[in-house]
Amino acid sequence: MKYISAQAIITRVREFGESDLMVTFFTQDAGRLRGVAKGALRSRRRFVNCLDIFSLVNLEYSPARNSDLHFLHSGKLIEAFPGLRSNYSILSKAAYMVELTEILFPWELPDRGIFEILVKSMHMLDSGGMPDLIAHSFEFTAMSHGGFKINLEKCCRCGRAYTGEGTAVFRPEKGAIACMKCHQITALSPKLSPEAIKFIKMLYDDPSSIFDRPAVDDRVLSEIKPVLRLHREYHLGREPKTASCM
Ligand SMILES: [Zn+2]
Repeated sequence: MKYISAQAIITRVREFGESDLMVTFFTQDAGRLRGVAKGALRSRRRFVNCLDIFSLVNLEYSPARNSDLHFLHSGKLIEAFPGLRSNYSILSKAAYMVELTEILFPWELPDRGIFEILVKSMHMLDSGGMPDLIAHSFEFTAMSHGGFKINLEKCCRCGRAYTGEGTAVFRPEKGAIACMKCHQITALSPKLSPEAIKFIKMLYDDPSSIFDRPAVDDRVLSEIKPVLRLHREYHLGREPKTASCM
């Protein structure tokens, strides 16, 4: 039988039976998959250091017949991201990004773009760079790839185009902005300044741009926080368990 070889991020690992491990992994071309690593608890030889959560690995696997399960045959560690485990705050951001990915992308639904951004975000967190900014940027990109892009082009009520000037109001139930003539700023409709809107647009246009220049004004960061929280609450149906760090 021909094995499939693919890069993957390990997202969950648990003991399964006497000597096996049940592994959930997210791949570039096949999305999120579940596999059994037979005998992995007894002999780690085929999977040296590579069945740890968050690790980027190259896995060889094959699908099981009549099941959505896969058999993992071997693995090779590409990157362990030790920096993610050195600090609780960074670790919780990584856990949050992984959980959000699981919620937004069902089993076996590939999204090359989000895989690439997840790997880059892990690299950035691993090197200690701006955890809040990286996690929030990932969130905008993941939500947008998952079908929840915020409409920043025009006021969702009067239809007036947003030209990049003036403060707007975020309307979570619409997933869009409104102009200040049409809607007031409230706790449930927070403001978005032109700088914050420009930042979100930049991420939508090129999610990788944040890795070239990982900096943003603190005011922008504090504006996007409630926007993302409300956006999640309205569209995900449930708050991710790991969201308390956000
Ligand atoms: Zn309006």
